[in-house]
Amino acid sequence: MNDQPDAGGDFLVTHHVSPKDGEDACLRDGAQYRQSLRDGRRVIMGGDVVEDVTSHPGLKAGIDTFATLFDAQFEPESREVTTSIDPGTGRRIATGWLVPRRREDLARHDAQIRFTTHRTLGVFGRPPDYGPVKAIGFLAFRHLIEKDEPEAMEKIEHFLDVGSSHNLISADVIIDVQANRKLTGAEMPGRLRVVEERPDTLVVHGAKAGNTMMPQGNIGTISMPPPARDVPEDCMLWAAVPANLQGLTLVCREPVTSGRETRDDHPITAAGEEIDCLALYDHVEISRDYVFSYRNRNIASIYTTLGRFAFWKIICRLSHRAELFAATAQMIVNALGTDHVPAVRAMVADVIHYAKLIRACVLASVEQAAPTPSGVLIPEASLVTAGRLYAIEQYPKIMQVLRDLSGQGLISRVPESTWARSDVGAMLDEFLPGHDLNARDKNRLFNLVWDLTCSGHGLRTALFEALNATPAPALREDLYRIHDNPEARAVVREIAGLE
Ligand SMILES: Cc1cc2nc3c(=O)[nH]c(=O)nc-3n(C[C@H](O)[C@H](O)[C@H](O)COP(=O)(O)OP(=O)(O)OC[C@H]3O[C@@H](n4cnc5c(N)ncnc54)[C@H](O)[C@@H]3O)c2cc1C
Repeated sequence: MNDQPDAGGDFLVTHHVSPKDGEDACLRDGAQYRQSLRDGRRVIMGGDVVEDVTSHPGLKAGIDTFATLFDAQFEPESREVTTSIDPGTGRRIATGWLVPRRREDLARHDAQIRFTTHRTLGVFGRPPDYGPVKAIGFLAFRHLIEKDEPEAMEKIEHFLDVGSSHNLISADVIIDVQANRKLTGAEMPGRLRVVEERPDTLVVHGAKAGNTMMPQGNIGTISMPPPARDVPEDCMLWAAVPANLQGLTLVCREPVTSGRETRDDHPITAAGEEIDCLALYDHVEISRDYVFSYRNRNIASIYTTLGRFAFWKIICRLSHRAELFAATAQMIVNALGTDHVPAVRAMVADVIHYAKLIRACVLASVEQAAPTPSGVLIPEASLVTAGRLYAIEQYPKIMQVLRDLSGQGLISRVPESTWARSDVGAMLDEFLPGHDLNARDKNRLFNLVWDLTCSGHGLRTALFEALNATPAPALREDLYRIHDNPEARAVVREIAGLE
């Protein structure tokens, strides 16, 4: 395998791993993905510079899990879901990079997200199939962009081509760092801004927060969150950058996994985590080939519109995870034999209710999807926002229901190494069997519930869901703004006898 710097000298793909042959030319397997991360990027974790992210205990297990998702593109049973034929080029690409133009395409994305969710229990909010959403969002709403920045679309199309043909994994680079909220946008010290405009590049300085999985990914897509009111124009930047950009330092948060968890005791945590980080840009040059918008207040104000496809993918993920929550709830009560207790059945019904309502929003939003003027099919926005608002607000409650259903099961778990002891193992087998599960399997089920609802990893995932793609107050504002039903208003007007 060749991992030479890209001969073409593309700004975005500086450390390209040579592609596969023939039909698979646009795909990468897990080993190639891992190799692409050994590219000289500057990552700091726990006070140390990380020499190789693929072997660092805080990053490795998550990368290994991502790698299985790349490998799945070559496995016969998952190839049809994880890859798709791009109708424009006839090339087989990762499904995440497929531009949705028909309902079947949205169904392909939904199936891909379901697949990823089942492989990871949905605890990765930014799996490889998520990253292309920004580029697809730009393409979908090109009519809003082209009138101000006519050259942007050529760049976006090039970005989509490079991203899909190299099977890149992209992080969202959106959030401004947290600072004194009494300052105006212009006064914010850390806000990423352009400090010099050169003929072929823009030089940026400052920081972005979040950047989920950028240390484990290839590139990041920079955009600017709302509101754009008092933000200076030199901060209004939409661009794509490689993770190994010269002058960029990725400062990781403390990991919530140790890298030493075993699958027996921690089936979810052992699969690792997606790491969030602060991205510090110290006078970094960004190629204008990948600057899609700059100093454009109009585009800065349509962040939510450009994110419509991303928001839909997020609710798809939440819906598939909710189905797994419902399955877990049913398995807990079957394991304990509490399934005949009316109050217990009501709690399980709450979880099923949660899953069904989110799924209904996904399906209805696809049913009412409409093409944008550029022919990209975008699911109906108010159903997506309403569903997401419900999903994230109920999420903590659903976690608590799973804890309640478990009773002492969560704190009476026994490590596999203890169970393996001859002096206690047989007694544990004898004393702890459940209703329809033997003692050891019951213990394993509660290991999973622990990881999902009580572990640092589970709580980080819950926090991520509450914040990513904007928290509940912003979703309420979005819903208020986009909902319109003139027919219903006319009926009310008529019934009330208004003139
Ligand atoms: C891992 C992660 C991923 C994220 N992903 C995305 C993303 O994909 N897209 C995106 O746009 N954002 C994303 N966010 C950012 C998220 O939307 C913000 O964290 C959130 O908007 C709160 O802003 P803040 O963290 O800067 O908190 P601050 O502005 O410092 O405010 C702190 C708290 O004060 C309260 N508060 C402040 N102002 C208001 C207000 N106007 N109305 C109501 N309450 C208020 C809230 O409780 C808020 O949490 C992500 C955040 C994280 C941590």
